[in-house]
Amino acid sequence: MKILKKTLKWLGIIILLLVAIGATLYMIYLRPFMQKMKQTTVINYDKELTLVLGGGGNSGILVSDSLVIVIDTKMDEAAEQLAKTVKELAGKKPILVVNTHYHPDHSTGNSFYVGQTIIAGGNYTKEFWIKNAGEKTLPTEWLKDRMDIKMGDDTVTLLNLVKPIHTVSDVVVYLHKRKMLFGGDVILNKQAPAIFGIADSDPDGYLATFDLLPKLFDIQKIVPGHGNIGGIEIIDNFRQYFLDMKTAANDPSKEDELVAKYKDWGQIPFLMSPGATISAFKKKAEKK
Ligand SMILES: [Zn+2]
Repeated sequence: MKILKKTLKWLGIIILLLVAIGATLYMIYLRPFMQKMKQTTVINYDKELTLVLGGGGNSGILVSDSLVIVIDTKMDEAAEQLAKTVKELAGKKPILVVNTHYHPDHSTGNSFYVGQTIIAGGNYTKEFWIKNAGEKTLPTEWLKDRMDIKMGDDTVTLLNLVKPIHTVSDVVVYLHKRKMLFGGDVILNKQAPAIFGIADSDPDGYLATFDLLPKLFDIQKIVPGHGNIGGIEIIDNFRQYFLDMKTAANDPSKEDELVAKYKDWGQIPFLMSPGATISAFKKKAEKK
C-alpha cells in the first residue's frame, strides 16, 4: 500500500512536470509561431498577379481574360479572406485552384471553391486525401505529371514532382514570363521543414529537387511555401541547410556548430527543426 502511494505520488509529480514542460514549449515556440502564421501580407505584384503571404501557406492569384488561377487556399480566416479577394477579381471567370500539397495550411480553403476546378498531385489517391485532409477539400482533378496553361501573355506550368519530398505528391508552379516559381513546402525561406515519416517524405528528395528545378526552369523569383519572397538564393540557402543537416547526421561532432547556423530560422522543437531534419536523415540511413 505504502509503495503504491509513493509510486502514485511520483507519477503525479512526473505528469505535472511534463505538463509544465509542454506548456512552456507551447508558450515559447508554438504560440508565437501560430500567431505569426495567421498574419497575412498582400503584395500587388503586377496588374495580373497578387501574392498573399502567410495565413497558412503563401498564395498567388493570377488573373487573365478567361481564367483565374489560385495557388494554395490557406486556412482559417485567411482562407475565407483569400476566397473573397479571388471572387472579386474573378467575377464570372472560371477559377482553377492548384494545391501544392494536401496539408491543411495549404488546402483548407478549398471548401470555398465549390463548383470550380481544384487540382492536386496525382500520386495521392482520393482515399488518401479524404483520410488525411478531409472530404470537404477534395480536389476535382489529379495532376499526373505536367500541365501548361496559357494565361494572357504568360504560360503557367504545373509540375507534379512525382516522388516523396515534403509529401508523396508535391506540385510546383512556374510562371514563364515572370520567371517565378511557387515552390510549396519543397522550398521554404528561413524556416525549418516539417518532414513527417520516411514513407511520406524524404530529406534526400529535397536535395534532388533543388538540383532539378533550376535545370527545368529559368528561376529568378521564388514564392516559397512559407517566408518572404526572394530570388534563387532561397533554394541555395535551403540546399545548404539540408547538406549541413546531412553532414551532422553522419558526424555528430559537427552537430552543435551546424545547428547553431540556423538558430534564427523559424522552427518548432522536435517537429520542424534542425534536430528533426537530422533525425530524418538518420532514420533514412537506418532503413537502407
Ligand atoms: Zn505549409
